[in-house]
Amino acid sequence: MKRDTHHRITDKISTIIAYAVLSGPIIILVVMMALSCYEKVRGTITFHSPFEKKVYYTVDGEYYHVSKDCPVLKDGDRVYSAYRKELTGKTPCEECAGSD
Ligand SMILES: [Zn+2]
Repeated sequence: MKRDTHHRITDKISTIIAYAVLSGPIIILVVMMALSCYEKVRGTITFHSPFEKKVYYTVDGEYYHVSKDCPVLKDGDRVYSAYRKELTGKTPCEECAGSD
């Protein structure tokens, strides 16, 4: 009887160890996923933070502008806005973004 109990406890312990071994990597994976999600969300928030500068540009224009009313932009131009980080291949306008 005593042996039986001992056996059961050993069984329980080995079951717990088995669970730990099995769920360990899963827990690590879940934590890693949560962390990467958090990093992604944080990145997005930083990326689109209200403190970040928005700039204005035209599709054909080679420059981007800090001011929507920049004299270089013509009245008929279709002006788009974007975060400066998103905008690649355009150089700052000398009129309004030159000092940037
Ligand atoms: Zn400009």
